[in-house]
Amino acid sequence: MMIAVNDKGYYGEFGGAYIPEMLHPNVEELQRCYLEISEDQEFQKEFRGLLKDYVGRPSPLYLAERLSEHYGMTIYLKREDLNHTGAHKINNTIGQILMAKRLGKTRIIAETGAGQHGVATATVCALMGIECIVYMGAIDIERQAPNVSRMRMLGAEVRPALSGSQTLKDATNEAIRDWISNPVDTHYIIGSVVGPHPYPDMVARFQSVISEEMKWQLEEHTGSSHPSGIIACVGGGSNAAGAYYHYLNDPEVRLVAVEAAGHGIDSGHSAATSVLGTKGIIHGSRTLLMQTPDGQIVEPYSISAGLDYPGIGPLHAHLIDSGRAEAISITDEAALKAAFFLARKEGIIPALETAHAFAALDHLEYNADDVFIVCLSGRGDKDLSTYIKHFDQLG
Ligand SMILES: *Cc1c(COP(=O)(O)O)cnc(C)c1O
Repeated sequence: MMIAVNDKGYYGEFGGAYIPEMLHPNVEELQRCYLEISEDQEFQKEFRGLLKDYVGRPSPLYLAERLSEHYGMTIYLKREDLNHTGAHKINNTIGQILMAKRLGKTRIIAETGAGQHGVATATVCALMGIECIVYMGAIDIERQAPNVSRMRMLGAEVRPALSGSQTLKDATNEAIRDWISNPVDTHYIIGSVVGPHPYPDMVARFQSVISEEMKWQLEEHTGSSHPSGIIACVGGGSNAAGAYYHYLNDPEVRLVAVEAAGHGIDSGHSAATSVLGTKGIIHGSRTLLMQTPDGQIVEPYSISAGLDYPGIGPLHAHLIDSGRAEAISITDEAALKAAFFLARKEGIIPALETAHAFAALDHLEYNADDVFIVCLSGRGDKDLSTYIKHFDQLG
């Protein structure tokens, strides 16, 4: 089975572009142009140059010796936490800001929940001197004050979404409304491998630098470019897509997708889409999502804001549905434990999202001669206040 997107944006039966009529001109322009632009030599030169000198790539592939010893196999960490702004998200926003420039756009919009994608977007807009408007639910603006301040310091305008539950879903609606009203000058930067075609494929390509580097780095370390498996956490699925990308059609390499179980899969407070999700349409694509029998989206829950999403990208729906990827879900409690464990074992404080990927090591079947790579998608500075609350239990 060959895993690849087709020209309509489908991975198997998942993907496509289910959008209101009024968005067709914007989305069709991107569909027509994204491959030609992103494969252009000048584009690649500028993209690669910024990844190297601004983001700080390549990110190291680090042999975690104490972790390896504990689990009785070989474990490498792909250090996306060392990127500028502290996570993998910047790989995508750099790619998209260059895409926007090539399309002649002078204004950027984005939506953000916890603010991480908003910060990564505000960063590249400052870098390019382009106007930036970030939509954010009014409740999220209150909950995520430090990231709101960061975006403002970087020169972005943060606009509150005051409708509905005043969270990510409402911010997304506001951003779409804005895009419909400003089709000529505005590019919408989506932060994960979700949304209508071509976003999932475009974002996966920008993030694929992660597995491109893994291949030569692992070869340098071990003499083989192929690990036994790759473990990554999945919110929308962009760090996982990047970490899997160049191994998708290599069935020898196991792909492990780690979701947030929240308080537990059956607790009613979870974001384990691959277990609880059914086929439907969300944010412009057909995928797996958590919904009621009559199609109302179920509010997701996770302790980590980046995994707190009711769907998964169509690539991941296809990988999991077809059996190519294994899904593991991890509770808040197990993720917190894994974060403290990694901090004490390796001197690395991971983002809460990333901590889910580490907790999956306790649920994996493996052999002593296996070599696994964990995608360390981000650093934990932003989660310190949550960690501090759990010092008494776990520290
Ligand atoms: C946003 C975020 C995620 C989840 O997003 P994906 O698109 O699934 O990668 C994971 N880890 C970190 C550190 C994040 O900031």
